[in-house]
Amino acid sequence: MHSAPPRPPSIDRVLNWTTVSPLIAEYGREPVLASVRSVLDSGRQAARAGELVDYTEPGLTAQLASHLSRHNAPRLKRVFNFTGTVLHTNLGRSPLPEEAVEALLMAARHPCALEYDLETGGRGDRDDIVEGVLCELTGAEAATVVNNNAAAVFLLLNTLAMRKQVIVSRGELVEIGGAFRVPDIMSRAGARLVEVGATNRTHLRDFEGAIGPRSAMLMKVHASNYAIQGFTASVPETELAQLAHSHGLPFVIDLGSGMLTDLARFGLPHEPTPQESIAAGADLVSFSGDKLLGGPQAGILVGRHDLIQRIRKNPLKRALRVGKLTLAALEAVLRLYRDPDRLADRLTALHLLTRPSGEIQAQAERLLPHMQRALAGWPVSVTAEPALSQIGSGSLPIDRLESCALAVRPIARKTGVLHAIEAALRALPVPVIGRIADGALRLDLRCLSAVDEADFAAQLSLVRP
Ligand SMILES: *Cc1c(COP(=O)(O)O)cnc(C)c1O
Repeated sequence: MHSAPPRPPSIDRVLNWTTVSPLIAEYGREPVLASVRSVLDSGRQAARAGELVDYTEPGLTAQLASHLSRHNAPRLKRVFNFTGTVLHTNLGRSPLPEEAVEALLMAARHPCALEYDLETGGRGDRDDIVEGVLCELTGAEAATVVNNNAAAVFLLLNTLAMRKQVIVSRGELVEIGGAFRVPDIMSRAGARLVEVGATNRTHLRDFEGAIGPRSAMLMKVHASNYAIQGFTASVPETELAQLAHSHGLPFVIDLGSGMLTDLARFGLPHEPTPQESIAAGADLVSFSGDKLLGGPQAGILVGRHDLIQRIRKNPLKRALRVGKLTLAALEAVLRLYRDPDRLADRLTALHLLTRPSGEIQAQAERLLPHMQRALAGWPVSVTAEPALSQIGSGSLPIDRLESCALAVRPIARKTGVLHAIEAALRALPVPVIGRIADGALRLDLRCLSAVDEADFAAQLSLVRP
């Protein structure tokens, strides 16, 4: 007997099924209607391709439920960052400390005095929220905040160097993360780049020879994500500042990462600070809020009062300004710097960067049996082994931090299995992001906090081959 292929039910009928009403209660009528259309469309296409289509009430309801849940899942998902790079740009850079999260929630929930002076009842400036603490911490006269450091550099160039020349060492014409190239930002800002010196060596006389009537400033760019080693020379900041000032020009530094305290006190390599640059005579210093500083995405400019005033008056400042959520979080983070003794406990990014490798190793050993059990169905071995984390976001590019990782290796030297496991870990409710290199998939546990360890272990039972 040959039976006719099943016919799809009408949309109205599906919407009236008792099994569909909980979906309507959860997602709303319009989204369920859209989902019914989409599921029935795919059914028709599948039928045309000769496939069997399940048009029964339980069958279609299950398809609807899965379609709706996939469609409604947030695109911005939390993940476990086991890449070994702490400030990972693709994973949102710095996590925020609790103080900043609370401040951010307050500002999100309630009206707040963003541009309102509570003493006089008059209009305030949103920069006032963080200017005081930034000046206190860096020794600068004034400060302003924009969307990110790229915006800060763009705005300062556009304000101070439009149709003029900016003198920079050839060794500092860096590209950061693909989209930020000093020469490109410079030309978009309307400034002319004047390169001096050679890639590995630049001397004071190179700068001196380039200064002319069209010069706007001398600029120093922190080399961030690469290091020039060997036969090198660069001019100390104090000398560049003196040279600039003797010609009536400002000396400006793009620091990249802005650590507001000496990292050496936490056993990490020293990273240049804005306060050192200011003390050396820099007239303006720009840095990121979400690199080593450990705060929200922002670009911070500190320096001379008259220059900051000119930057504030640039109409582009309005286009690049930050919102109240950023300011709330940034203020809370900056306040933590007033007490450097407790900074490594309270500032999440610094806490992760300073975790002792022994602690991470103990964590890896606790998690090892869970991981071995989860991957028992695959032809792999799992071990806990030493690893080297990096800071990330261009900070201290050649320094590594001793850490520990769960390492997965194929038994039969077939690395294809590692990609399958990587995909399975990415498909978990909280996706786990590791790194495949040198024939192993490594999960560097530096960024796994004590509170999250149990959650991570629990979801390992959901790994499916
Ligand atoms: C990271 C970096 C930038 C860009 O900063 P964002 O905050 O990512 O916009 C600019 N300059 C230097 C030297 C950097 O290291």
